[in-house]
Amino acid sequence: MSTPIPDIRLKAAVVSVTPFEQNCSLIWDEATKRGAVVDPGGDVARIEAAIAQVGLTVEKIVLTHGHLDHVGGAAELKAKLGVEIEGPHIADKFLMDGVEKQAATYGLEGLRNATSDRWMEEGQTLTIGGHDFEIFHCPGHSPGSLVYVSRVQQFALVGDVIFRGSIGRTDFPYGDHDALIRAIKTKLFPLGDDIAFICGHGGMGTFGMERESNPFLV
Ligand SMILES: [Zn+2]
Ligand SMILES: [Zn+2]
Repeated sequence: MSTPIPDIRLKAAVVSVTPFEQNCSLIWDEATKRGAVVDPGGDVARIEAAIAQVGLTVEKIVLTHGHLDHVGGAAELKAKLGVEIEGPHIADKFLMDGVEKQAATYGLEGLRNATSDRWMEEGQTLTIGGHDFEIFHCPGHSPGSLVYVSRVQQFALVGDVIFRGSIGRTDFPYGDHDALIRAIKTKLFPLGDDIAFICGHGGMGTFGMERESNPFLV
């Protein structure tokens, strides 16, 4: 007789942060309540309240890319929780070094520059609450955008690479529309239609739904 595989599952909660309504997500293992905060862009007090409400033991902060609405609260949250920051790809370092300057142009206060304790790359593995996530480098929206995928849980954290019915904007000097489309079609969609994703803005989606109906991708 084989040993049954325990039904370990990931859970998620989303906290909308910053005037950009960015989806900061808490991701944790249902059984152990250990997990990560993904893209704490700001409004750290609100994120801390969500952590307390879940009863989450935060093991790390994970970043999908370097834009201010995703990383602006990371330094403050790191200092408060005493955890390390993993991701994004080092190609977004210039964005994370310029958060305060950028925030000033938007008239936003309280967002801080951030750095990573572990820049990540495609081919490496990220773990959240003991669950492995494959890493895919999907540049175009930003040069260092990473997508984290758990095939076991059929779940992905996509940042601003793809949204429900849309894709990340590429009208920045460093943007690359063709590279973004290519990454989505060659790296993400082959992973399967059933993979559900949390993205940086708006509601959740699945790769299958976007492959069939996303106007940028059909
Ligand atoms: Zn972004
Ligand atoms: Zn964003």
